[in-house]
Amino acid sequence: MPPAVFRFAPSPNGYLHLGHALSALLNADRARAVGGRLLLRIEDIDQTRCRPDYEEAIYEDLAWLGLSWEMPVRRQSEHFADYAVALDRLDAMGLLYRSFESRGEIAALVTEREARDGRPWPRDPDGAPLYPGDAKAMSPAERVRLIASGGSYALRLDMAKALAHVGGALTWTETGEGPGGQTGTVAADPAAWGDVVLARKDSPASYHLAVTVDDAAQGVTDVVRGQDLFHATSVHRLLQALLGLPAPRYHHHRLIRDADGRKLSKSGKSTGLRDLRADGLPAAKIRAVIGLD
Ligand code: GLU
Repeated sequence: MPPAVFRFAPSPNGYLHLGHALSALLNADRARAVGGRLLLRIEDIDQTRCRPDYEEAIYEDLAWLGLSWEMPVRRQSEHFADYAVALDRLDAMGLLYRSFESRGEIAALVTEREARDGRPWPRDPDGAPLYPGDAKAMSPAERVRLIASGGSYALRLDMAKALAHVGGALTWTETGEGPGGQTGTVAADPAAWGDVVLARKDSPASYHLAVTVDDAAQGVTDVVRGQDLFHATSVHRLLQALLGLPAPRYHHHRLIRDADGRKLSKSGKSTGLRDLRADGLPAAKIRAVIGLD
């Protein structure tokens, strides 16, 4: 059997913190335990927020933790053509449509719908409102006009059509745990995300599309990542089914929280790996700090 393939996939939009250390070390531990490979992927699709110095810092901080990974490192910014191929495929299947509302216009539409219906507009698992617009029903002439006017747009997956295309129920194998304790064979619920954005006029792929394409391109068999991405797996499973890609096993791990119980952020001073290192914390102590044996 070919070796299992694990990956740690940070975004260079800030410095790594203890939560990243847990993810990276768990990936390395699990890979080592099964004689698997460990890959590093730089998720730098959002060119407005990612910076080369943060990428350098990722390499430094991971090396400080004692980790090594296979070269070359895959950088998403070097693979825009792969995402375009996947989008073209979904488009040829009739599963994509363009929506033209700005984020502000979407917020206003949601307020309007809530006033009309007298109840909250449905939200996705991350708490963002499902797409409330009716771009799907737009006349072809109006669409042509809006594209020609040069305005921005989002490329959305038509969730109802996508689900119909797949037909049966989707599941994944979870060896970790979701926020509600879900484990084992988990039923995917992509509909909870509505018509998700897969790309924008100025952005070649959303996180969901890029991560799905990359995991398949790199032959990843085991995704080990934080529980905050548990529900996103439903979208990834759907995209895998639509694009004919294999499904990795998933292991979602607990999140490290700050003293106030909040998820760590990249700007949190006391929990950043660089700051802890500068304060003289030896790398060998990190495992104890994050509760790894
Ligand atoms: N790039 C994502 C992050 O830094 C992780 C993506 C993943 O592991 O699927 O949160």
